[in-house]
Amino acid sequence: MNKAVFLDRDGTINIDEGYTYKTEDLEFYDDVFESLKKLSHFKLFIVTNQSGIGRGYYSYEDFKRFNDKLVLALSENGINIEKTYCCPHSPEENCDCRKPNIRYLKEAEKEFDIDLKRSWVIGDHPHDVTLGKNAGARSIYLLTGHGQKHREDLSAKPELIANSLSEAAEFIIQNDNHN
Ligand SMILES: [Mg+2]
Ligand SMILES: [Zn+2]
Repeated sequence: MNKAVFLDRDGTINIDEGYTYKTEDLEFYDDVFESLKKLSHFKLFIVTNQSGIGRGYYSYEDFKRFNDKLVLALSENGINIEKTYCCPHSPEENCDCRKPNIRYLKEAEKEFDIDLKRSWVIGDHPHDVTLGKNAGARSIYLLTGHGQKHREDLSAKPELIANSLSEAAEFIIQNDNHN
């Protein structure tokens, strides 16, 4: 079975000014390439809530154009994203794919033969931590993006609260052999 790291996108990989979808606004955190390269023995996925689509702020095509550019830039830097999972719904739609619902992680588990117990979720929102817990994976809460702002709202306990993605990657490497 494979191990995975499920990455939130906005505020985790790229700088998030809120509803980020314009390709010209794509800006990576400085440590992204180096950090994700260290995790190349994991299968990497993006799991992202894009309620801006459901709210009518931008279209699914806008999302896809931005995301394709981001995934391509990662791959040009030697980082392979297996798949991007996107929830396009607003919270009011009560779908079953919006984080912290675990539907996409269960899909990845099946399609890519992922061992969720040996996998990680990284993100800058409390729902990323809850997602990890709900799926039986481990999680790291980032203080980048919206992390600082929502820190008091954490309801599940992450394995680590990290200042940066590189701190998170280092922690995963150190704690990867214990099970
Ligand atoms: Mg985020
Ligand atoms: Zn959804």
